[in-house]
Amino acid sequence: MKNIKIGLLAGLILILLLSGCQKQLPDPEAEPENLQTNESSDVSEQKFVRTESKVVKDKKTKSTITTQESFQLGTFITINLYADGEAPNEDFDRIFNEIERLEDLISKSIETSEVAQINKNAGIAPVPVGEEVYELIKLGLEFSNVSSGGFDISVGPLVDLWGIGTESAHVPEQSEIYETIALINYQDIELDDANRTVFLKKKGMELDLGAIAKGYIADKVKAIITDEGYTSAIINLGGNVLTVGHKPNSEAWNIGVRDPQDEHKIVGSMKLKGNSIVSSGIYERYFFVGDTRYHHILNPKTGYPEENHLQSVSIISEKSATGDGLSTTVFVMGLEEGYKYVESLDQVEALFITDENIVYMTPGLQDVFTLTNASYEVKSMGY
Ligand code: AMP
Ligand code: MG
Repeated sequence: MKNIKIGLLAGLILILLLSGCQKQLPDPEAEPENLQTNESSDVSEQKFVRTESKVVKDKKTKSTITTQESFQLGTFITINLYADGEAPNEDFDRIFNEIERLEDLISKSIETSEVAQINKNAGIAPVPVGEEVYELIKLGLEFSNVSSGGFDISVGPLVDLWGIGTESAHVPEQSEIYETIALINYQDIELDDANRTVFLKKKGMELDLGAIAKGYIADKVKAIITDEGYTSAIINLGGNVLTVGHKPNSEAWNIGVRDPQDEHKIVGSMKLKGNSIVSSGIYERYFFVGDTRYHHILNPKTGYPEENHLQSVSIISEKSATGDGLSTTVFVMGLEEGYKYVESLDQVEALFITDENIVYMTPGLQDVFTLTNASYEVKSMGY
């Protein structure tokens, strides 16, 4: 355990150093407050490690930025609170404790979590759960419905089989893949509103809420920050960025969109006020065998990582839970179908990056996104 703690601390220090890189971005106009990085690692033995406050006086807005970072949800979390003076430690306590409380309910790898209880009782019995897990599962099922199961929160056994992002990551045998995908079907998740229970009909079924949990938790963190009286803040849960209000001088936040090929670079930046940006991509968790990359967004129909010439999809929305669910859903839908689907939604925008480094974005982003990386080119969908 001690080694893990030391490893996590070293990781945190590395991230703190890397975050210094943001200040040397080429275009000062596009210098983002927060780089959308998705540092993540194996969650199995995760411990809650947290830094002390870093306090910086922001000359431009004349406010004080207090920053704390933690390692939770298998990823690095950064909270920036803007105020007239240093933000008290207790305000961060509430935030990080809330993340821990929710992780303890939602994580399938925490044995006592509600989700782990549901999984343990697959094919046996319905499990009563609290409002939050119930709400999250319902939300997950909405995304499953719109994508006809391309997004499926019962993908758990397939996630376990591949082990992507863990030490046991490997390409499974085809027979194992067939066996496993037979277990995945969101229509075999039975909800009972009256008793608030969840039942997985087949033995071996497993929920995995990894594709929406961070967004859902980010929204809960925002509620706390707002309740604490902050009107300007940035929440970054491993690249899942949710902004609170605008900068203290009323300007929009400038959030960098990660370069899928280089975690220290950005493709461009987004001007956001009070909304969320969440990206799903082939760069978050993956392993290589030869030249083949196996990444963590799995196609439940084929049992393999989704191959559709996309490197990433970023969703801009008001709620981060919507953004997180949609980023994965739209990724599996692919460019054509995903673009049309996002266009049909109100107050949701999307940015796609293809494997040819072409950036496509929905019309609402024309004045919001600025390309700053010469390796990429913006094109329109042409209809
Ligand atoms: P995200 O990074 O939000 O796109 O979520 C990816 C995570 O969601 C993976 O690490 C898995 O835990 C889970 N996942 C992978 N494929 C799917 C899928 N097709 N539907 C739902 N969840 C998935
Ligand atoms: Mg997601």
